[in-house]
Amino acid sequence: MKELLERKQGLHRTVLIVDDEFVERQMLGAMLGDTYTVLYAENGRKALNIIRQEVMTLSLVMLDLHMPEMDGYSLLKIMRNDSEMRRIPVVVLTAESQAEVESLRLGAADFISKPYDMPDVVKARVGHAIELAEDTIIIHETERDALTGLFNREFFFEYGKRLDQQNHNMPMDAVVLDINRFRIVNELYGKLYGDHILEQLGNSIHEFVRDTGGLACRNDSNCFYIYLPHSEDLTDRLTGFISVINQFLGEHKITVRIGAFMDSGSGLDIEHRFDRARLACRKLRNTYSTAFVLYNEDLHSKELRSERLINDMDRALEEKQFRVYYQPKYDVSGETPVLKSAEALVRWFHPELGMVSPGEFITLFENNGLIQQLDRYVWKEAAAQIKAWKDTYGFYLPISVNVSRVDIFDPQLGAVLCDIVSDNGLTPDKLHLEITESAYTDDSKQIIDTVAALRDQGFTIEMDDFGCGYSSLNMLMDLPIDALKLDRSFIRNICTDPKAYKLVEIIIELADLLKVPVIAEGVETAEQMNILKEIGCPVIQGYYFSKPLPPEKFEKLFGAGREGE
Ligand code: C2E
Ligand code: CA
Ligand code: CA
Repeated sequence: MKELLERKQGLHRTVLIVDDEFVERQMLGAMLGDTYTVLYAENGRKALNIIRQEVMTLSLVMLDLHMPEMDGYSLLKIMRNDSEMRRIPVVVLTAESQAEVESLRLGAADFISKPYDMPDVVKARVGHAIELAEDTIIIHETERDALTGLFNREFFFEYGKRLDQQNHNMPMDAVVLDINRFRIVNELYGKLYGDHILEQLGNSIHEFVRDTGGLACRNDSNCFYIYLPHSEDLTDRLTGFISVINQFLGEHKITVRIGAFMDSGSGLDIEHRFDRARLACRKLRNTYSTAFVLYNEDLHSKELRSERLINDMDRALEEKQFRVYYQPKYDVSGETPVLKSAEALVRWFHPELGMVSPGEFITLFENNGLIQQLDRYVWKEAAAQIKAWKDTYGFYLPISVNVSRVDIFDPQLGAVLCDIVSDNGLTPDKLHLEITESAYTDDSKQIIDTVAALRDQGFTIEMDDFGCGYSSLNMLMDLPIDALKLDRSFIRNICTDPKAYKLVEIIIELADLLKVPVIAEGVETAEQMNILKEIGCPVIQGYYFSKPLPPEKFEKLFGAGREGE
């Protein structure tokens, strides 16, 4: 591109004159010599050698048609079929008008009739042909991504729209391809290697589009879009494409995810087709092998519902659509179970969607940070509830609240929690904090420090979902925790699977040794409960005792044998 711009500013442009007549060559050379560097060849074969050598610098070829060895037609054909030589414009030199038509058909830019009696006309036509060719290249380069030669995003959508208009919106499929963890590929192997992969992918996509028709672009650094006429075989084609690219991606264990929208007359425009393909692709975000998925309407309605929940969240907080339910935890170490504490679990009573369960919205809110507001709301409600029950029933029932990993990175966390308890006249030990095990393994140091500080402030820390994450048992020794909540998945199989039984036994023994009490979650049957009791699990939570309940129903559980009266 730089060379081309320099050339455009009038610096070193070179013209090759190909003619077997010495006199003709000299005449043309004399006309052009003061504007251009002129090279000469006396037949097609010699010309071809020069063109190959000077392919980057030649601005124009002037070509006689009738020559020995290789004639002008043959040379023209060779040039037009070569990806590099193709860009050099050719002006045909001829005396027959029939030949003029033929040479234009073969891709000549223009022709000049022999004999050359008007030098100014010759110079003007040469100048014009060069300019036109150079402008074409500049346009080509601005609409293309330099690394892969595919369209860039703007031109891709522009041409895609034009294509749709010309074809009266015929069905088109949209494909999005993303390289998994490309940043890491770059960091591990260097940018040059990353570029090399992108180039190879670009080539494969070029070839794919050549076969299927349509357009492709590099949308951003590691994401490609393909827009192609609808085909019922799209799945097979993509499977074939994946096996092609896997040949070079596989070497370094690089994987891609592909989302595709198959259009069967949706009438959508290009942008909406790609929205859907992107959505499908996003579904594979956490998949680390090469995979592809087709968009379907379910995915779309789920996405719309998620968007709706996010949009409605602020208003829901204001209007108190969120309600906190409480699920009891019972101490089962004695003869009769004793109500020991409760877990606060939020529910959303949406005015139009009805009851929405936290399983649906918590991850959604965690992904965009909204969870912080909701958690604070729940913590306040829970603290107020502890106080209200104390005022009415005369004893403190500790309540545990869920602390999501987003909260842990908030430097204000300790201060916020302290304010909440003191606003309700409580000491921190009444509010238990459930922190999911997987949070500990994310960024151990920071999390351990934060949790240790909370514990120093007097809060009781319960490690939630234990067994789902990757912390090893010996890691437990160094972690600042007061209780361990054994994940439901262990309990589910405890009666039927001897391995699950054994595992729970070992965990409880070890926790005993470390003096960390275990709470079993999700206990549903008397059988599970009896086995856990036998093994020595001191605290149990689950449907066996009660589902999470609104406070007014929870109060009915206050009976004999309460702790802390
Ligand atoms: P979790 O913290 O593991 O909570 C336990 C979940 O298991 C609750 O689901 C509870 O209703 C359910 N459960 C309890 N006993 C049983 C049982 O015997 N059998 C079965 N099948 N399930 C049982 P829920 O209320 O739908 O909450 C789901 C998750 O949402 C919670 O899992 C927690 O991670 C999250 N969550 C709930 N409320 C909040 C909150 O206020 N803040 C945050 N950050 N997360 C919350
Ligand atoms: Ca929990
Ligand atoms: Ca849990």
